Amino acid sequence: MEIRVRFAPSPTGPLHIGGARSALFNYLWARKNKGKFIVRSEDTDLERSSRESEQNILAALRWLNIQWDEGIEVGGEYGPYRQTERLELYREYTKKLMDNGHAYFCYCSEEELEQERQVLISKGETPRYLGKCRHLTSEQRATLEAEGRKPVVRFRVPEGQAIHINDQVRGDVVFDSNGIGDYVIVKSDGIPTYNFAVVVDDTTMKITHIIRGEEHLSNTPRQVLIYQALGLPVPEFAHVSLILNTEGGKMSKRDGDTAVMDYQKKGYLPEAIVNFIAFLGWAPSGEEEFYTLDELAEIFSLDRVSKSPAVFDIQKLNYINAHYIKKSAPERLAELALPHVQEMGILPQAERSIEQQQWFIGFIEAISEKISYMAEVKDFVHYFHGEVPLEPEGEALEVLRGEQVPGVLALFREKVLEAVPLSAAAVKVLLKQLTKELKLGGKLVYMPLRVTLTGQMHGPELYDIIPLLGRENVLKRLEVTKKRYLS
Ligand code: GLU
Repeated sequence: MEIRVRFAPSPTGPLHIGGARSALFNYLWARKNKGKFIVRSEDTDLERSSRESEQNILAALRWLNIQWDEGIEVGGEYGPYRQTERLELYREYTKKLMDNGHAYFCYCSEEELEQERQVLISKGETPRYLGKCRHLTSEQRATLEAEGRKPVVRFRVPEGQAIHINDQVRGDVVFDSNGIGDYVIVKSDGIPTYNFAVVVDDTTMKITHIIRGEEHLSNTPRQVLIYQALGLPVPEFAHVSLILNTEGGKMSKRDGDTAVMDYQKKGYLPEAIVNFIAFLGWAPSGEEEFYTLDELAEIFSLDRVSKSPAVFDIQKLNYINAHYIKKSAPERLAELALPHVQEMGILPQAERSIEQQQWFIGFIEAISEKISYMAEVKDFVHYFHGEVPLEPEGEALEVLRGEQVPGVLALFREKVLEAVPLSAAAVKVLLKQLTKELKLGGKLVYMPLRVTLTGQMHGPELYDIIPLLGRENVLKRLEVTKKRYLS
């Protein structure tokens, strides 16, 4: 049998890390089994759903390179792939359930339902619908309709049934049908609820495995009952654990961005995000930490999906992203860094001159081992660009007070004027000559130079900084520091 899995987001906001993980696991499971991966939109919440969110979700999947075989924008045999375009189908299935007595019209008003809820709560019982409209005669219905009441459709939950879910991650999970209460499957405006529409979609799209977040586990018995009532085979389930922060709490903005596209904006690499989210609740058998999407598709398996919560650790993501940055060509990194550099008002929006392009690539090469994501390039621009260094503070200021400093700067100035071209190789030679000719230890020469040129005690290599700053800026920075602190 062909394995068919799906990702079924509700387009009520951008794609979050948790959703991307569900999509990825389904995608990997499909590829591993040479099956099909379907993407459809669960847009029945008319107020909160938007095409804009749908577009964001699809863009994020495409950015991560998670491609779907059937679904929105791709098409396929079992479309349409938006629930609001499938209402006819839900009506058909509603009729089936009504005809065989598994569903019925309910005319209870909000107030009546609320009253029932309050009574149950005051008795310490689980609030649920007790079935007031279960056995309405056609006369009673006619009277209620004459009052202008619009019915919902409720599913008739069988009493005293143990509902078993054979979950691929959690094992046998049992629910007692008595706690459930007859639930609404079609609202009074004719729109199906999630638990009903999802079953109709999964069954008509021939879905074999439902891999989704643990937050849906409590919905599953409601869905299983509908399959049973329709006499349909129940697909396999795999509920993947929640994603928590490093303190074991719910993930929030403080722990890192939750929306996938925010990571794109910050200059994370899609292959790093994929690698990172693959490990949120799953791990391969070995020690290896780095996997491409293709490699993951070969080794992914549901039996290595963990029952315990996954931990979202932004440090880990930064570590993985830094790894992929180091492996990327400078040209690719430059392209990703460009918007961040331009944000600072340097480099033109349009064509760059050859000099600008050389500077930019050199800059990227000099810092690519030092950053975790591309937005961090902004923290490094000041080392390599402009006439004025940052202002030194504290210890750095002390460094400039050393008695050897004026001599170091004077000789450095001379050598910079002589070095043609002012390349990294030339700077390396020049720096060695300085220590030799001044008969000073490296620290006494390089530290004041560093502070003079950058205002900082630490940073990228001087032989990267000096050529990229260029002779003019180097001389200007020398003057600025001398004027401010040495005169
Ligand atoms: N629309 C649901 C959600 O976004 C999908 C649930 C499911 O996969 O069954 O959470």
